[in-house]
Amino acid sequence: MKQLITVENLHKSYGAHAALKGVSLAVEHSQLTALIGPSGCGKSTLLRCLNGLEQFDEGRICIGTITLEMHEGKLPADHSTKLRNLREQAGMVFQSFNLFPHLTVLENATLAPVVVKKQSKPAAEKIARELLKKVGLGERMDYYPSQLSGGQQQRAAIARALAMEPQVMLYDEPTSALDPTLVGEVLGIMRQLDDEGMTQVVVTHEMRFAREVADQVIVLSAGEIVEAGDPEVIFTAPSDERTREFLKGFLQ
Ligand code: ADP
Ligand code: MG
Repeated sequence: MKQLITVENLHKSYGAHAALKGVSLAVEHSQLTALIGPSGCGKSTLLRCLNGLEQFDEGRICIGTITLEMHEGKLPADHSTKLRNLREQAGMVFQSFNLFPHLTVLENATLAPVVVKKQSKPAAEKIARELLKKVGLGERMDYYPSQLSGGQQQRAAIARALAMEPQVMLYDEPTSALDPTLVGEVLGIMRQLDDEGMTQVVVTHEMRFAREVADQVIVLSAGEIVEAGDPEVIFTAPSDERTREFLKGFLQ
């Protein structure tokens, strides 16, 4: 299978603190990759680099036909165009939903397609309505975020990201802010998108989901990938001591 994402030797520091220390990974088309690891190990930083929200210092990111390469912190001449392209290729879903509070769910899902992709409003609305129905919000399109449950807000955020027709969806702990009873509905959407062939990278602490649904699990520790591969292997017979130590907390 062809790779959609490759990351090579990615480095990112905040001042003297190295958050990513030479991360390399690959994600194939239609795969779901679960990115796991202890708090502060660099998961969010990695996702933010992948969708161009964060500038990195060294290394290379390729998503589809877009390649962004950095050497010694020097920006390539066309770097702002490439960052914008990356952002369009990679839909991002955050722990805290980040919907626009003053816009309805439908308006949330049509804003970027109209403003950024220059779609006509009727065309954008048609696509957004389909996507909102798909995530189970067909009856809630005219609601404001504050009128929705956390699970509904997160599903709206997923529809909004999908409306940009990204090549890959990136999720940063999409269920961590949810009441436990609402977690399943968001995991269910990611499962459904996986069945439909969407490429997804999910930072998550939902280990059962990672084990059951992911094609690949990547374990990050202190800015380095310590292990990556088949979920069954990682969850039942991890080869790295740091993976065993991290998973201990979830297996009790
Ligand atoms: P995770 O998502 O795995 O919890 P992060 O990627 O958020 O980890 O953070 C990795 C490391 O980088 C942490 O030590 C964190 O404190 C640091 N860090 C993250 N963002 C910033 C920032 N904007 N400024 C300074 N340090 C940061
Ligand atoms: Mg994080």
